[in-house]
Amino acid sequence: MGRSIDTLLAHGGAAIDAAYGEVVPPIHVSTTYARDAAYRLPSKAGYTRDDNPTTLPAEALLAALEGGAEAMMFGSGMAAATAVFLTLAPGDHVIAPRMMYWGLRGWLVEHCRRFGLGLDLVETHDLDAVRAALRPGATRLVWLEVPANPTWDVADVAAVAELARAAGARVGVDATAATPVHLRALALGADLVMHSATKYLNGHSDALAGALVTAACDEAWQRLRTQRHDGGAVLGPFEAYLVHRGMRTLAVRVRRQSASALAIATALEGHAGLEAVLYPGLPAHPQHAVAARQFTDGFGGMLSLRVRGGAEAALAVAGRLRCFARATSLGGVESLVEHRATVEPPDSPVPRDLLRLSIGLEDPGELIDDLRAALA
Ligand SMILES: *Cc1c(COP(=O)(O)O)cnc(C)c1O
Repeated sequence: MGRSIDTLLAHGGAAIDAAYGEVVPPIHVSTTYARDAAYRLPSKAGYTRDDNPTTLPAEALLAALEGGAEAMMFGSGMAAATAVFLTLAPGDHVIAPRMMYWGLRGWLVEHCRRFGLGLDLVETHDLDAVRAALRPGATRLVWLEVPANPTWDVADVAAVAELARAAGARVGVDATAATPVHLRALALGADLVMHSATKYLNGHSDALAGALVTAACDEAWQRLRTQRHDGGAVLGPFEAYLVHRGMRTLAVRVRRQSASALAIATALEGHAGLEAVLYPGLPAHPQHAVAARQFTDGFGGMLSLRVRGGAEAALAVAGRLRCFARATSLGGVESLVEHRATVEPPDSPVPRDLLRLSIGLEDPGELIDDLRAALA
């Protein structure tokens, strides 16, 4: 009923428990639920692979944040994303970004090859490329990642959704890096939003989780429910508790991380040791206008640096950083640096001189000093 996301998050989306007055939902560990003498279940929960009462508040909160009809949590971001493609049929055609989260791209190429799905990897921030790739009647899904790892290209969700709808295709958006604080993809016309909740939603680098949010409880969503039920990639109750707990501070964390990322990108732009600073909040970013129109409250806490001197120079800079942990993942309270080319296969399109930064909650001035010292 029209609550701001700050209020929704602070309250955890949940009513206070009537029996005990708990302001935090409890962790329900039972895998099975007893029926009464008439063989009725007391609630929706019957077996924890269908629904777990600890997961429900996290799902309800995320659905409210995204303005969706329902949300489903999964055991990881990959479990959530792969479920979407596993509900397509051989012969279906899919469009996905050329530059996207590597783990999903690698799986998708292999899955489509083995199961007979058509796949086009295109620059989804280029509307002409999307238009040219759409096959009316055959394209079932256009997958976007906004902004896209690790170059932070920004696809125009509303424009792609319009093209896709005209061709009879659905649109799914991996909004992990944007979070619902910056992007409401469903309001822009997407059918489905996906999150690696391992990242900003949980926010503390201590739980693996994923989520899907749907605009409508339609047939495609029912297929996804069946997929989760049968595939069994559900979230454990302890992780569900951690994700729900983490989400309650999502907006304050993400706004601060975005403000710091913008300050860092601005301070380093034009640095003699860098070929480029990739951040959608910079006016020089090729899709800055789209980003400014479609994002709310900032441009996200992720940016990348292209270091002058190639992979070796980039690794040397990473090695000199003191305030950033050299680790994969993103969206936690601690800042991380990653040389993506080291962890991706040789045929990856990611530039070899690229360092990806996940900006945490440290003092932004100290992060800038650390980066300047490492680049000097
Ligand atoms: C991490 C990530 C994933 C995969 O999520 P897991 O929780 O690691 O399975 C998918 N997309 C993006 C953009 C990510 O950052």
